[in-house]
Amino acid sequence: MKQINHIIGGEQTPSMSGRTSNVFNPATGEVTGFVGLASVDEVDRAVAVAKQAFDSWSRTSVAKRTAVMYKFRDLVDRHSNDFAAALTAEHGKVLSDSLGEVRRGLENIEYACGLAEHLKGSFSQEASTDIDVYSVRQPLGVVAGITPFNFPAMVPMWMYPNAIAAGNTFILKPSERDPSVNTLAAELLAEAGLPDGVFNIVQGDKVAVDRLLEHPDIAAISFVGSTPIARYVYTTGTNNGKRVQALGGAKNHMVVLPDADIDLAADAAVSAAYGSAGERCMAISIVVAVGTAADPLIAAVKERIPSITVGDGTDESSQMGPLISGEHRDRVASYVERAAGEGALVVVDGREQAMEGKGFFLAPSLLDNVAPGMSCYDDEIFGPVLGVVRVGTYDEAVKLIDDNPYGNGTAIFTRDGGAARRFQVEVDAGMVGINVPVPVPVSYYSFGGWGDSLFGDSHAYGPEGIHFYTKAKVVTSRWPDPATSAIDLGFPQNV
Ligand code: NAD
Repeated sequence: MKQINHIIGGEQTPSMSGRTSNVFNPATGEVTGFVGLASVDEVDRAVAVAKQAFDSWSRTSVAKRTAVMYKFRDLVDRHSNDFAAALTAEHGKVLSDSLGEVRRGLENIEYACGLAEHLKGSFSQEASTDIDVYSVRQPLGVVAGITPFNFPAMVPMWMYPNAIAAGNTFILKPSERDPSVNTLAAELLAEAGLPDGVFNIVQGDKVAVDRLLEHPDIAAISFVGSTPIARYVYTTGTNNGKRVQALGGAKNHMVVLPDADIDLAADAAVSAAYGSAGERCMAISIVVAVGTAADPLIAAVKERIPSITVGDGTDESSQMGPLISGEHRDRVASYVERAAGEGALVVVDGREQAMEGKGFFLAPSLLDNVAPGMSCYDDEIFGPVLGVVRVGTYDEAVKLIDDNPYGNGTAIFTRDGGAARRFQVEVDAGMVGINVPVPVPVSYYSFGGWGDSLFGDSHAYGPEGIHFYTKAKVVTSRWPDPATSAIDLGFPQNV
């Protein structure tokens, strides 16, 4: 049985709290390990170690920090398959999805490699007589990241590369459901030359999160997870005087206009709804079919579903793996169970596909005639269930999205550039795709939704990530010219 430990000051540190949580292989349903859940004292120890490391890391030259980030980038790239194997073993997603996750994480390390450019200030010479004004950005101190189960490697990489590159020290509190992959990241950071104590991992649950939220030596919290916890983390953290960015859940709509290429839209809907078993905050969970698009689109999606191979993520023929837990699988299935009673039409029922073994599998489902007020519309299901809402006009489609409390991502499929342009201006969401179903921004933009999908004003990674992990200082400086100065500066007059 594998034991997953904290990493504090570069050391594997087993939890002594006596509280543990099981880690499963979701494809077999078997317990493969356990994680020790941190006590308040263990969190305090990690914070103390990170605080001590901050003094020298924040003074380490930009050149040396850059060298560490480049080396880390190279090591992660070379160990991509190890990351992917660790991801699939505990999360369950198919290996190709795991490799995709590592690629998207790697992008953020590459962005952090440009720290010399990102941390540059500005300079105004002779703003007034003999006065120069310039700005610098300085690290905050010890910062913490609290992350969800669904991208156990990539979401932490949205955070720690930029935070560390900017001169902070970091404490990661990963999801207790699939924490192992970050141990590998810690080992590779050490191999890249990162000093002990700069990157620490505290395994844990609410006890650890609450201690991080109140600890006086934590300067900032980055959180990604469900909306209720994001709201709680934001409120508690800011009440304690911390800088907080808290990214929450989602209910992403994909609009299909009648002029869209139906095959392209159907392919996109299938991959965006059922990829990673729908456990993506940017998954499409609602297709908004406008006018005559509905019937051919539903037929095309229905036709494609039987060709999705559901199975163990380590099997190369599998295209969709299991859900994270048996409990979550049953919760997702309950939305399909209730859908007909609520007035939706169950076009494909994933519960009907029998799966061998004890893995947490649920095949894709497709629901038609979905509408606000039904639980399958109102709730974030976070599984392989795609609902279709039929509307008559483009305006109704935009209103539906704008009325939804979430505002993470959205997409439109059309051949009409004017309609697409209008959509990108009018729609209330932080990330918009045009003929792109999952518009996760590249690492040199920033990631974040609107409404209940993000609390705080800072998006994750990219320029806003650097901004979040640094504080601004503006220096106004007077150095009178010694030749004209009335003050005796004690300098030789010829300097
Ligand atoms: P979650 O909210 O249950 O857990 C996230 C983190 O919070 C974990 O580290 C967990 O240990 C901790 N946590 C859980 N309950 C807590 C509590 N009561 N008090 C304090 N801390 C607590 O989320 P999850 O199930 O791991 O992940 C799925 C959710 O994350 C979905 O809602 C998904 O949309 C969201 N998500 C959002 C984004 C985004 O960028 N907006 C990205 C990925 C996932």
